[in-house]
Amino acid sequence: MNLPAFEDVDSAARQIAGVAHRTLVATSRTVDARTGATVFFKCENLQRGGAFKFRGAYNALSRLTADERRRGVVTFSSGNHAQAIALAGQVLNIPRVIVMPSDAPSVKRVATEGYGGEVVLYDRDTEDREAIGRRLARDRGLTLIPPYDHPHIIAGQGTAARELIEEVGALDFLFAPCGGGGLLSGSAIAARAMAPGCMVIGVEPAAGDDAVRSFRTKTLQTVKNPKTVADGARTPSLGSLTFPLVLQYVSDMTSVDDPTLLETMFYLWERLKLVVEPTGALGAAAALDGSFPIRGKRVGIILSGGNVDLAQLPEWIGRR
Ligand SMILES: *Cc1c(COP(=O)(O)O)cnc(C)c1O
Repeated sequence: MNLPAFEDVDSAARQIAGVAHRTLVATSRTVDARTGATVFFKCENLQRGGAFKFRGAYNALSRLTADERRRGVVTFSSGNHAQAIALAGQVLNIPRVIVMPSDAPSVKRVATEGYGGEVVLYDRDTEDREAIGRRLARDRGLTLIPPYDHPHIIAGQGTAARELIEEVGALDFLFAPCGGGGLLSGSAIAARAMAPGCMVIGVEPAAGDDAVRSFRTKTLQTVKNPKTVADGARTPSLGSLTFPLVLQYVSDMTSVDDPTLLETMFYLWERLKLVVEPTGALGAAAALDGSFPIRGKRVGIILSGGNVDLAQLPEWIGRR
């Protein structure tokens, strides 16, 4: 399969125009004073479906043939991709089956069902979601739409960074969360084309730092069911498309531990009034922790999602 390029991100931007939100770019004097940088937050927590994933989902689904649309789609996801496929399918009137872990945050499952997706649950510890997805695809003639390793998904996710740079101009740094690498590789493709000097930094939870290790060793590394509050980045590894793209376009990778991540999430809630979920705060956590020389620089941070499960709040506060 051909790796997506900037023309695919451009094409995705045209495809989603008027359907996906062109999200807010937020700034904060408090953050700028704290970092000495000029920081721009791309608020994908305010995107339809509560995360950037609607961009890729709509881009992929809207490009299916009439026959594929009629038969429907299937996907597997810990939450936000599921919600995005459910919503994009609703907008496009495409039947959709979502394979979700039984321990996914209930807010995500309820939202997915609310958008009219058919949810099939599996046990994260004993069952293989990809195998279940493939079986459903085969048995029911559905098109499998994976959460990140798909050219239309990657190109769609790249439109967030494309919009950000289009709006604020060239950046010196761009921080993006990384799970399976769809958002990160799409962002990096856009940044390379629009702001060639921009350092693109991918950020993972420390417990699931497979992509950091893959980036350093240039050999694909995996992690099994990492325990982290960043539930949107518990993916086992980068994909066959996202791994080469990350190696080609990303400048550096780093990870943040859960206490730092929660601290940053609450900071964004309290100081910027922006409700982000733990995974959505990964980029901000790395940008604010002082490990990159951002002082005096123009810095973009993708706040990737805002689907918070408030039932987890007491536990999060306890772990701060
Ligand atoms: C899916 C997701 C990520 C990770 O995206 P990938 O494309 O899998 O790397 C980051 N943040 C949020 C909120 C997500 O839903």
